[in-house]
Amino acid sequence: MVVNQYLRYQRGLTIGQLFPSQNGLCACGCQRELPKSRKKWHSDTCRNEAYITFAIVKGDTSVIRAQLYLRDHGACRNCGVISDEWHADHIIPVSQGGSACDLSNFQTLCIDCHKDKTHNFPHHNAISSQAVSIFLTRILTAVGQYSERRLKTSNEIQHLGVAISPSVSSAINCPAN
Ligand SMILES: [Zn+2]
Ligand SMILES: [Zn+2]
Repeated sequence: MVVNQYLRYQRGLTIGQLFPSQNGLCACGCQRELPKSRKKWHSDTCRNEAYITFAIVKGDTSVIRAQLYLRDHGACRNCGVISDEWHADHIIPVSQGGSACDLSNFQTLCIDCHKDKTHNFPHHNAISSQAVSIFLTRILTAVGQYSERRLKTSNEIQHLGVAISPSVSSAINCPAN
């Protein structure tokens, strides 16, 4: 099985696939020879770090957040604000080719900076187009109720059509990613 680093979650992946046993050498890739008493890892540190990497590759959010906190200490990479509430953000969105498997593509962002990025990155339009479709469903339901209550005239229907603003309809047309 090949790791697809452009996926957020590697569901079927096992630690043995990611770190297969090496002939006499530590499986973590440190190139050290195994002590006689050990079969796979040179030390507990090698094993622990391999398991952390494995969890990040698997997409384990709690491990990713814990490791990110060790690195960034909750400080927003954009504005420097330190807060208990922060988001683990993919620097380059996975949908745009950013790696989901490597802490180097993660950054701590405060809620406000993450919101700003959300507005500016097309990746996040996928989320807002979901919101748009919920919004549209509500409008269409309302339109249905409206037209049940009243006689449909072409005037009324045209009027309802105008209620969907150009920004909403352009968001609906944006390609899903
Ligand atoms: Zn090692
Ligand atoms: Zn910030």
